[in-house]
Amino acid sequence: MLLPRPPAAALPTTAAGSPVRGETGEPAIPDLGHGPQAPFVLPPLAYPARTLAPTISTRTVQFHYRRHHAGYLATLNRLLINHPLAGAALIPVIRDSYGSGALFDSAAQVWNHSFYWRCLVPGGGRAPGGRLAEAIQRDFGGLPTLREALIATATGQFGSGWVWLCAEQGRLTLQRTANADTPVRHPGTTPLLTIDVWEHAYYLDYQNRRADHVTRVVDRLLNWPFAAAIFEAHLDRIEAPMAAMAAPEPPPPAALWPADTRSATFSRLARWR
Ligand code: MN
Repeated sequence: MLLPRPPAAALPTTAAGSPVRGETGEPAIPDLGHGPQAPFVLPPLAYPARTLAPTISTRTVQFHYRRHHAGYLATLNRLLINHPLAGAALIPVIRDSYGSGALFDSAAQVWNHSFYWRCLVPGGGRAPGGRLAEAIQRDFGGLPTLREALIATATGQFGSGWVWLCAEQGRLTLQRTANADTPVRHPGTTPLLTIDVWEHAYYLDYQNRRADHVTRVVDRLLNWPFAAAIFEAHLDRIEAPMAAMAAPEPPPPAALWPADTRSATFSRLARWR
């Protein structure tokens, strides 16, 4: 347990009576600003919509953010009215509604999109540093190889979905999910970066040329410092329990018998040593 938690009595509860976790429930996954429970709010973009152009046009960002993303949010809040998960944070809603259809789809799409906007930054695409750079070297053989794999994974996703760079127990993996599905529903998986490969993310600008879109996003917009910060938190989270396990053994309990014991019992036991 790395982060202090409020006392149990201070935790709000869901309609079903189970305690509400934080937005994430996990310290490695950033709070994206949806608020603690429904009705969730749309996190503001961290940059003006026009600043992702020309890689992603202002028109695409506006449609994507104000229609698609906001639309998923409106659906989610509507479905949660009088729902047993109405008092839960967003990630617990995602995890607890998996397989339910519309509720999972809208909850996952809200989180996926909020995360996606944070994964982009004007002037992005520059190589990360720190332990993420070391892990990319170890797990992919370097950033150029990861770049190619990311583009190939995104291009190879059949139909709508997402491509993700994730960390699992400190190891980097590339994943893709179909439609609304999201790796954040797996408690052991920490998403670091994502690219939206639904057609609404690029069709106005690139029509069917998904590979061109993804290549430019990777080269010009990916927010590597954001991914690096999440990766640091992920490593801290998995290293703290390991450090505890590696701690030296506690000293043995004090000797049962003082050294100057001269009792008959001690002498008898001592002979059996
Ligand atoms: Mn989208």
